[in-house]
Amino acid sequence: MKGPLSSLDVEARKDLVERQYNLLRETKDKFNAFIHLREFESIIDEVEGKEGPLTGFLIPVKDNIAVAGLPNTCGSRMLENYVSPYDAHVINLLKRLGGVVVGKTNMDEFAMGNSGETSYFGPTLNPWDRDRVPGGSSSGSAVAVAWDGFASLGSDTGGSVRLPAAYTHILGLKPTYGTLSRYGLISYADSLEQIGLFTRFSLDMAYLLYYLMEYDPRDMTMYSGNVRDVVRKNLKMVFEGKYSVDGLKMAYSNQLITLCEEPVQKKVFDAIDKMEGLGVKVFDVDMDFVEPSLSIYYIIAMVEASSNLARYSGENYGYRVDAGSYWESVRKTRSIGFGDEVKRRIIMGTYASSKGYEGKYYIRALKGRRWVKERLNKLLGLYDFLVLPVSPRLPPRLGEAIGPDGYIIDIFTVVPNLTGNPALTIPIGLVDGLPTGIQLIGNYFSEPDLIFLGYLMEGKIYDPYLSPRGVD
Ligand code: GLN
Repeated sequence: MKGPLSSLDVEARKDLVERQYNLLRETKDKFNAFIHLREFESIIDEVEGKEGPLTGFLIPVKDNIAVAGLPNTCGSRMLENYVSPYDAHVINLLKRLGGVVVGKTNMDEFAMGNSGETSYFGPTLNPWDRDRVPGGSSSGSAVAVAWDGFASLGSDTGGSVRLPAAYTHILGLKPTYGTLSRYGLISYADSLEQIGLFTRFSLDMAYLLYYLMEYDPRDMTMYSGNVRDVVRKNLKMVFEGKYSVDGLKMAYSNQLITLCEEPVQKKVFDAIDKMEGLGVKVFDVDMDFVEPSLSIYYIIAMVEASSNLARYSGENYGYRVDAGSYWESVRKTRSIGFGDEVKRRIIMGTYASSKGYEGKYYIRALKGRRWVKERLNKLLGLYDFLVLPVSPRLPPRLGEAIGPDGYIIDIFTVVPNLTGNPALTIPIGLVDGLPTGIQLIGNYFSEPDLIFLGYLMEGKIYDPYLSPRGVD
């Protein structure tokens, strides 16, 4: 493993293509990280035919992001045989700039889950310990990078990029809502989700985000102001080594960190101490909005899911059971086509927004969401960023945290989805051989600062070369 791929010239990157591909193939065979991996021959032809800033990047893409001509299953039987006829905006850009989509990665069904186990195509395994989950829902994309890949794409509705990043010891970014186009991302809960990036090195993160954040009028929630140019300019300074910030103020909550299991607590406190050593000023503050966010998130996510998934009726595309009458066909299609977790959420979401109950659940959750937003942004007026653990526990064993029992794992990741703020997972080393991480949450469009902090932490708080493969 060399340093960041973005800092090599095109020829050096091309030399790494075969090796990248072989490692990715291993993640398919050993950890079930891919639902579909393209053949090497077709990839090499595509790499040869291109020259651009992303040439040499073989990018694994989560299977809920549309890539023309490739399957787009969302980890579900419902879309098992569905092949996308078009490219998502980020895929468009990636291809135009010389990158190659290497395949589609395994994921929790319709991105609902945090362990990678609800996929119709079987669980993804954690390369640090195959008896444990790698975190989800972007499980395969995380594993691909953990196994010495350079970068991959995922989606983050409530932590699906940041959690598996922490559980596999890599970087995971959920950008500010409205930064990356969601055109071509199959919706789970669209008011919460963003396409996110996994990388091993901070400079690759800055580089990719710079190239993928081009404005797209097809996503009406994209931010179109000129702050986009400012962010891009700063990202460029980050990956060209010209950026700097100092005197940053960081808030943490002692009380929240003590909710984590013992060894995780210790690691997180350790990391905060070390950040002080990097010149960051640290303050212990009350973050009373974090714990209530979990129920607020789940109600909103389920309500949006129940509406978004209404389109899978077997009428237009995807799995279909023909059972004579229209309603009987729809009933059977959805009963068999969806897995248990997806059905649970559709039922709960329909209930929470139905007449007579919406005031008690959905509307209350929307008010709660506004309160969380106000509380968080007030803090971010006083401090430059917050630091939180990513997960209160180490990666669970397979089968240990499925369904509602596992929802608590999302307690620290859902806040930035409710509020739209950017958040970056940074690994902080191993506990008993298992990875853990922290996340930095910043003001809207503070990605350059967050990634730059990740860069400062490289080699000081975590080792970007640390890999479950061992050292080459
Ligand atoms: N675990 C959360 C959920 O199941 C978040 C998933 C995600 O970010 N896609 O809703």
